[in-house]
Amino acid sequence: MSEPVRDRFTRPLASLRLSVTDRCNLRCRYCMPEDEYVWLPRASILTFEELERLVGVFAGLGVHKVRLTGGEPLLRHDLAALVGMIARHPQVRDLAMTTNGLLLARQATALRAAGLRRVTVSLDTLRAERMLAFAKSERHADVLAGIAAAQAAGFDNVKLNTVVIRHFNDDELEDLLEFARARAAEVRFIEYMDVGGATRWSMAQVVSQREILDRLRRRYGPITPLPDDSRAPAERFRLADGMTFGIIASTTAPFCRTCDRSRLTADGAWLLCLYAERGLDLREPLRRGASDAELAELIRAAWQGRSDRGAEERLGVAERGALYRLDSLRADPHREMHTRGG
Ligand code: SAM
Repeated sequence: MSEPVRDRFTRPLASLRLSVTDRCNLRCRYCMPEDEYVWLPRASILTFEELERLVGVFAGLGVHKVRLTGGEPLLRHDLAALVGMIARHPQVRDLAMTTNGLLLARQATALRAAGLRRVTVSLDTLRAERMLAFAKSERHADVLAGIAAAQAAGFDNVKLNTVVIRHFNDDELEDLLEFARARAAEVRFIEYMDVGGATRWSMAQVVSQREILDRLRRRYGPITPLPDDSRAPAERFRLADGMTFGIIASTTAPFCRTCDRSRLTADGAWLLCLYAERGLDLREPLRRGASDAELAELIRAAWQGRSDRGAEERLGVAERGALYRLDSLRADPHREMHTRGG
């Protein structure tokens, strides 16, 4: 394969998060706290054929990891068909999905058969009443059924994502670790981030990596950092008894220096950073009839000019609060985390 395209800090274009829909069937307080949103117009949503074509162009430029996300990716009708179309690109060696799990039980087998390799399920709490209060959903049992179905379907590994929020679920770290242990899954604790959509964010609610480790040390004893795959967002750790887990410290210890990720929204806006103010519109040239070579040139030039370090720049903000207010999110839904894809 030819050399990957590199940005101004020599970071390769290697990983693409594909937000296949901006819709979600949860209303998590840290992401989509409102009942109603300004949705992307239906006609602007890329078809599977359009998405596959763009993935092919990205793959030709060095992208070998693709993660389906959203919104809730399983709300996109017949997602397994898209998985099959992407899996046919041999350059895409790692095809994964992040889901809230609500609809996973009935789709896991078809997704695995279509070529999806890995699944991450978001699980913030083991207590149904907390999920009702925090995500406005009574369907905690469906999430657990989704996790079980993913494991039965034979995914390479099933990971659990937990956003840790003070006074919501920071008393469940050990329970979540034990839940993962019992299922041979791996949990990744995520620091609460001030992304678009997190309109109620405050630093006081962030439980830092250091605090998470201190807390787990009190229960489990010494914790050993594992040698890292330096481009993965999670730092991994091992307890003395062998159990492993990850922490994604995007808020207090961001990893922009090694970030090879970009994001494509369901309507074809390509974002070079989770915090980027705007994206490059790929839908317009795609629908105007641009050739693959023309699309590749647009993408190559944008990546070569990339100097984003969004999370690190946020560290330098003196009075850090929510990134966007509600009115500014309503004015441009592309700023929303659920549009960008987490
Ligand atoms: N609906 C899917 C899900 O729930 O996993 C995929 C989309 S969701 C935006 C992707 C990931 O982003 C989830 O693991 C979610 O917990 C995480 N996320 C959303 N808002 C966040 C925030 N403010 N801070 C940290 N992680 C966040």
